[in-house]
Amino acid sequence: TADVVPQAPEDPLFGLMAAYHRDSSNLKVDLGIGAYRDDQAKPWILPVIKKADERVRNDPNFNHEYLPIAGLSEYCLAAQRLVLGTESPAIKENRVCTFQTISGTGAVHLGALFLSKFHPNQSHTKVYVSNPTWVNHHQIFGNVGWPIAIYPYFSTESKGLDIDGFLGTLKTAPEGSIILLHACAHNPTGVDPTQEQWKQIAAVIIERRHFPFFDTAYQGFASGDLARDGWAIRYFVELGLELCIAQSFAKNFGLYGQRVGAFHFVSAPGAEATGTNRRIFSQLAILQRSEISNPPAYGARIANVVLNDPELFAQWEDDLRTMSGRISDMRKGLRKRLEARGTPGKWNHITDQIGMFSFTGLTEPQVQILREKWHIYMIKNGRISLAGLNSRNLDYVAEAFDDAIRE
Ligand code: PMP
Repeated sequence: TADVVPQAPEDPLFGLMAAYHRDSSNLKVDLGIGAYRDDQAKPWILPVIKKADERVRNDPNFNHEYLPIAGLSEYCLAAQRLVLGTESPAIKENRVCTFQTISGTGAVHLGALFLSKFHPNQSHTKVYVSNPTWVNHHQIFGNVGWPIAIYPYFSTESKGLDIDGFLGTLKTAPEGSIILLHACAHNPTGVDPTQEQWKQIAAVIIERRHFPFFDTAYQGFASGDLARDGWAIRYFVELGLELCIAQSFAKNFGLYGQRVGAFHFVSAPGAEATGTNRRIFSQLAILQRSEISNPPAYGARIANVVLNDPELFAQWEDDLRTMSGRISDMRKGLRKRLEARGTPGKWNHITDQIGMFSFTGLTEPQVQILREKWHIYMIKNGRISLAGLNSRNLDYVAEAFDDAIRE
């Protein structure tokens, strides 16, 4: 076997990280990272997570036993309420089937796998992802055999949403296609549809009987408001659509390496009477058992404490505002500096976009200059992580962008 295994290309993001770490310049800036950093460029443990962690550790009943196959049930219910809203008709009607997963990646995978077994008309169904999307979407769906198609998303002209291209492809895609949607803070562009545009998207999805699959990795982290960041999903559920949700708590709890996430299958109204939830649960249990047996416990226990304690929940909302507020300040700071320098181009998109990432419009040669001359690291496509900016490097980064663009 070993003789026939070909060399695979290095993961571009992890390769970038390695190059950054090898660079010995003290000017270096990491704009590639997919994790929040504070103004000192350090990882930030949310104060609320420190408290919840202590509570978990000091619980006299704490142990390292396995969780059930579907995960910690209290946590699963809290995760449902968070993403769908406490008043969700789907929760009240018992139409949501939830499994704790290995963060958002595991949730996307469990959903992709489940659909590969049970989505009807497999032979002529494709999964439509935005162009561009989180690169792992291609790999995860591809790995379980899904053919992938793309829908237009980012307009290189406006550096905003190409809504006409998006809707046009939704209209011409074969009926019953799976449509992968980023609930908020689209990765990598930072471009989200407005509520009006979400309504147009939903209308076409209903008309063409497509199947929406939401990926939500930034709820509360995007705008600092959990309900606002969950709006699109809740709207689709209110319309009575059947859908899937992959939920990650990596960014909004800062629990990256603990791998805390959930997969939700929301059935259409009327499903409860037929025992749909029970059937779906039974099949997901087989898939989960064969892949991971049961999910990791520690991070989910921490998240569970925050999600179920009103006082800690309120503190979490403060922490979310701290993170999203700093990111928003960095957006404003970068735009202001580029405009003050008269850097060629328009820079409104830096503050129009939302979340951790921004598609700057920088070209591959410009990205190269930034890396070689200025020790600033970012992905070739011009995506930057705003979390890599801070009050000490903003001036330097703006100067470097200006230089690379004028080169
Ligand atoms: N989906 C998207 C769009 C993401 O940006 C991320 C984080 N990079 C994830 C899912 C999942 O990440 P994780 O597995 O760490 O939760």
